[in-house]
Amino acid sequence: MTLDLKALVRTIPDYPKKGILFRDITTLIEHPEGFKASIEQVAAAHRHLGVTHVAGIEARGFIFGAGVAIALGVGFIPVRKKGKLPGETIGQNYALEYGVDTIEIHADVLDSNDTVLLVDDLIATGGTAIAAVGLLRRTGARVANAAFIIDLPDLGGAAKLEAEGVEVSTLMA
Ligand code: AMP
Repeated sequence: MTLDLKALVRTIPDYPKKGILFRDITTLIEHPEGFKASIEQVAAAHRHLGVTHVAGIEARGFIFGAGVAIALGVGFIPVRKKGKLPGETIGQNYALEYGVDTIEIHADVLDSNDTVLLVDDLIATGGTAIAAVGLLRRTGARVANAAFIIDLPDLGGAAKLEAEGVEVSTLMA
């Protein structure tokens, strides 16, 4: 019988604030077969692309992205919140519900010979992923694919990312 990965994701109402249904992947990653299967399914769907790197968005994108990078035999790039990377960085601002946030990568990590698969745990409005794709592309690298464990399709993020020329794959909605 195949494992029901969706059943391993817990939904917590009103976190981090009232009205949000938080999709909690900690219950998926503490399940050994569930964690392994989610990594393997993302890797299998993208193995044919021959990407040179996997980029993961802080913080939950690190958990899945690092596993996918190992499974694909490529390096991992952390897309970090502002001020966390020690070397020279390039950054990208993006709008939050209230205010602005910034993500950064090391300036010298990629070039035009590279092809990147972007990974995060969840896509909602797509704001974070679109900012990450824009940032990664500024290095000259090709970013044509993004993988998420969970899609919240009502928020339209995957469609927005597709409109930016990024093929989106998700394991569950
Ligand atoms: P967005 O930029 O709106 O696509 O939001 C995506 C980011 O916010 C991801 O890094 C998710 O981890 C997090 N996120 C947004 N909505 C949720 C939710 N309902 N449950 C869990 N994480 C969420």
